[in-house]
Amino acid sequence: MERLYPRFVVIHHTAGFDVPALTINRYHAERGFGIILRSPQSLVAEYIRRGFKQVAGGVMVSIGYHYLIRANGTVEKGRPDFMQGAHCKAQNMNFGSIGVALTGNFDSRDNPRGAKGHTVPTSEQMAALRKLVLHLMDIYQIPREQVLGHKNIKNSATSCPGDRFDFKV
Ligand SMILES: [Zn+2]
Repeated sequence: MERLYPRFVVIHHTAGFDVPALTINRYHAERGFGIILRSPQSLVAEYIRRGFKQVAGGVMVSIGYHYLIRANGTVEKGRPDFMQGAHCKAQNMNFGSIGVALTGNFDSRDNPRGAKGHTVPTSEQMAALRKLVLHLMDIYQIPREQVLGHKNIKNSATSCPGDRFDFKV
């Protein structure tokens, strides 16, 4: 089992519409991000119940983020915290961080008028993000300066989560 020791929280936008984690899971499956969750059995069963694909020895989890925050503020579980992510290769962050994504596309150049999803995070998303980040900081003892947007990770070469996203813990 690939283990993850989270020292950072990396925040993303999905750059698209407000869709459920299972839909993002399908997109990320197409990009080959999947890894097999094999244990604990109860968690494997939970993912299968949620609609993730059962495979020999477990369940395929392809969504690259650990958490997805929907426009209405609902937090959907992506990968379990203890699995490596598939959301930020730079600085080996897939092995050193929890990846949190908000649905929407908050980049004013890529999505000026909302053709690719909502253009600014909803207040419900920001409230849910704050609560989730404070929780993650607490359980993993992550200092606030290690809660960063994707684009703030050195060598990440992305505008994610967009210039219309502004968050400070
Ligand atoms: Zn990103």
